[in-house]
This record gives sequence, structure tokens and C-alpha cells, in this order.
Amino acid sequence: MAERVAIVTGGTRGIGAAVSRMLKDKGYKVAATYAGNDAAAQKFKAETGIAVYKFDACDFAACQAGVAQIEKDLGPAEVLVNNAGITRDSTMRRLTRDMWDQVIDTNLGSCFNMSKAVWEGMNTRGFGRIVNIGSINGQGGQYGQVNYAAAKSGIHGFTKALAQEGASKGITVNAIAPGYTETDMVAAVPANVLEKIVAKIPVGRLGKADEIARGVMFLIADDAGFITGSTLSINGGQHMY
Ligand code: NDP
Repeated sequence: MAERVAIVTGGTRGIGAAVSRMLKDKGYKVAATYAGNDAAAQKFKAETGIAVYKFDACDFAACQAGVAQIEKDLGPAEVLVNNAGITRDSTMRRLTRDMWDQVIDTNLGSCFNMSKAVWEGMNTRGFGRIVNIGSINGQGGQYGQVNYAAAKSGIHGFTKALAQEGASKGITVNAIAPGYTETDMVAAVPANVLEKIVAKIPVGRLGKADEIARGVMFLIADDAGFITGSTLSINGGQHMY
């Protein structure tokens, strides 16, 4: 197999960084995008030698230009991992329109922006692998996360609809629904809340970013062409409750 090119949004920190590293280890040419944390991105680049690209995944035009630049530098994108995500948690009473928009645009809008940028090329070449990072909270909802649960639930619908369009073209579109995973995002959750969450995880601990990345590798494999429109739950068994 010639080296395939993979793009990971939010690929410089947390789960995305683990995905980027694992892709590189498996021989992919990787582009890791990020939004604004230059220090983290430069550290990641220095440690891994992976190319990093700064553009806002919420910005449609920036995504088209960003992907064009990546393809010019590395070659046609054959794998896209839509991982960029944020939380702006609040109960409905305090949730603002701005918090709603930021979370919908970053988690869900970015999937459209980036998939659109790679879609024609994947169709023309007759091969593509798209993996969208959803969440257990998009499957079951979560107190104080109306915006995030809606965005992640939207990702699961987006995945199934786009998978139908790609199925006859050699393009698979799947989602992963991680449970609570040790990253900066979860570090922001208050300790007492986290304690209650961990108590509900059958394996009795948080997930590791590498454990989510492992699922991405499974779904993007060349011989995974029969798996499409699926959601893989990786959450220590929490989805059973
Ligand atoms: P982190 O906060 O650790 O990292 C987020 C990454 O996304 C960073 O690289 C960040 O860039 C990037 N990013 C954020 N906004 C944008 C944007 N507008 N444009 C481009 N890049 C952006 O998150 P996690 O690793 O924890 O989460 C990764 C994904 O997994 C998210 O979609 C999240 O919702 C999902 N998830 C996480 C869970 C968890 O427990 N951690 C559980 C379930 C799902 P920068 O460094 O520049 O800020």
C-alpha cells in the first residue's frame, strides 16, 4: 500500500493527538489540525514530527483552503477523522445562544465543513474512510449538556446519512462514541462530578486516549470496507446502563 494521507481535526491534543500518533506509527502521512493552542501544537509537532495546520474547523472557507493546502503538501486525503470538539456546559436556564452555537458549530458543523472538503476527491478516487467522533452523551444525553448532546447526537445521524451516499463509492463513514476519557476536556469536570461518573463505568476507570484511537484504526483499515454507518461505543461498558 502506498502511504495513505490522513487528516485529524483537533489532532494535536487529547484523543486527536493519540489518533495522529497511531496513524503515523502505522505508516500514514498525517496532518493534525488545531484551532488556537499554538504552544500545544508546536510541542506535539516537535515530539512527533507530524505536520500541524492551524485553522478553525467551524469556518467553512478556512476548511476548504486548509484541506487544499494539506493535499498540496501531502497528497490526496484518503482518511478524515472529524475529532475537533469543545464543551460549554450549562443547564438550560443559563445556557446562552452563543454557547449553543459554539458547541454545535465546533462539534457538528466541522464534520460538514471537513467532509465536504474531501468528499469530491474521495468519490473520484473511489476510496475514503471518514470517522466522526461522537460521544456517549450524544447517545444518552447528559444533564447540563443540551448543546453538546444535540451536537453529538447530530453526528450519529450525519454518519448514517453520509454513509449511504458513500457506500457505492468505496467510502465508509462511521462514528465512535467514546465514554469519559482522560484528556484536558475531562480534566475540566469537577472532581466530585467525575467521581460519580467513574462509579457508573463498569470497568471502574476513565478511558485512555489510545483506547479510542485503537477504534479509529479498526474502522479506517483498507479491509474494513464492509463496516459503514456504524457507531462503535468505547466506554468501559457504560452504554449498557
Ligand atoms: P481536547 O480538549 O483534549 O482537545 C480538543 C482538540 O480539538 C484540540 O486539538 C483543539 O485545538 C481542537 N479544536 C477545538 N476547537 C476547534 C476548532 N474550532 N477548530 C479546530 N480544532 C479545534 O478534547 P478531547 O481530546 O477530550 O476530545 C476529542 C473529541 O472527543 C471531541 O470531539 C470530544 O467531544 C470527544 N469526546 C471526548 C470525550 C472525553 O471524555 N474526553 C468523551 C466523548 C467524546 P486547540 O489545541 O488549538 O485548542
